[in-house]
Amino acid sequence: MMLLSCYRIGRAIPVPFYQSTGKKERKGMRHRVTLIPGDGIGPEVAEAARRVIDASGVEIEWEVQEAGADVMDKYGTPLPDGVLESVRRNRVALKGPITTPIGTGFRSVNVALRQELNLYACVRPCKLYPGVRSRYERVDLVIIRENTEDLYAGVEFESGSPQAEQIRSFAPQKIAPDAAISIKPISPSASRRIFRFAFEYALAHGRRKVTAVAKANIMKYTDGLFFRVGQEVAAEYAGRVEYEERLVDNMCMQLVQKPELYDVLVLPNLYGDILSDLAAGLVGGLGVAPGANIGDDAAVFEATHGSAPKYKGLNKANPTALILSGVMMLRYLGETEAADRIERAVAEVIREGRYVTYDLKEDRNDPTAVGTREMADAIISRL
Ligand code: NAD
Repeated sequence: MMLLSCYRIGRAIPVPFYQSTGKKERKGMRHRVTLIPGDGIGPEVAEAARRVIDASGVEIEWEVQEAGADVMDKYGTPLPDGVLESVRRNRVALKGPITTPIGTGFRSVNVALRQELNLYACVRPCKLYPGVRSRYERVDLVIIRENTEDLYAGVEFESGSPQAEQIRSFAPQKIAPDAAISIKPISPSASRRIFRFAFEYALAHGRRKVTAVAKANIMKYTDGLFFRVGQEVAAEYAGRVEYEERLVDNMCMQLVQKPELYDVLVLPNLYGDILSDLAAGLVGGLGVAPGANIGDDAAVFEATHGSAPKYKGLNKANPTALILSGVMMLRYLGETEAADRIERAVAEVIREGRYVTYDLKEDRNDPTAVGTREMADAIISRL
């Protein structure tokens, strides 16, 4: 059986942890991890996460790698070769957000990392911690997003280009002569891989239901294929994990009205990206939403949020999302006890509501809000 990397956010039942090599990590060993601080608020939240993880007593040798907008002048690229080499070597990375420059011709570093390292599964737990401002009482969802295909594959043709004209020749009545064109590849192999990951995740984490989300009534060949593969994989797990399907527009409404009905959601790339932010909004916003991108050979742990450039260098951003991404990373490394301890400390600080950043205060202009560093200090003091 394929062994999947299993990690948990806040579940009481311990689950076995396996690296994708099939080797069980030894608890208490020294780990080498690539740390990519990123740009914008990245370096501040990465520093906070690193300090909290170090304070937990887990021994990590951090290999710091620069990437992002701030290093473009120095290396001529936002993703220097050394970054990928480091993640390939260490197989685990903790990453701050990286800005995607618009209209410069550079593709997204975040997308490039996922594609180059074949990090096919994006996992984003959205759990409501007491003390967080939210309209809901109970939300505990996990979004599993296929990371390698769909409109995010980067297969695009400019308006007026010969390639766009060539593609248009297949369906001239449906595509405007001056249209730019993006291609949406969805394959049975990648769909099967992500469904298996979702069902294995559900089993390993004691979750009862997987909901597949797409728009199969309109995109019959691509999203229709996604659902069909979902049904095939679901049949292998019949009696162990429930399976259902939702159209993505309806799912958005359902999530806003009754998020407590849902458990593990599995989606193609674009819908997964959008619903991740929606689900983060249900549990208090981007400041508290962790994530991971997992492949068979490497895993990169990073928050759902971006580089929030307007807060760069202000010691204002909430470090929780990256700290909780670090908690996921520790579980992946087999450091369950330290992970649980950090998660409890984060939950306590949020519940107390005193040493929290502006976004976790009742009033966003509350002058008692603390900075990134101070919130990390409060978490460390409760470890
Ligand atoms: P963003 O997530 O950076 O910020 C949106 C807003 O959310 C912010 O203005 C802020 O109000 C809030 N926010 C985000 N993180 C926060 C935190 N830690 N604490 C408190 N508030 C927080 O989204 P954006 O403005 O759309 O994107 C900015 C840049 O980041 C873009 O270049 C985008 O491409 C990039 N991005 C990178 C990643 C990644 O590195 N994985 C993910 C998303 C976006």
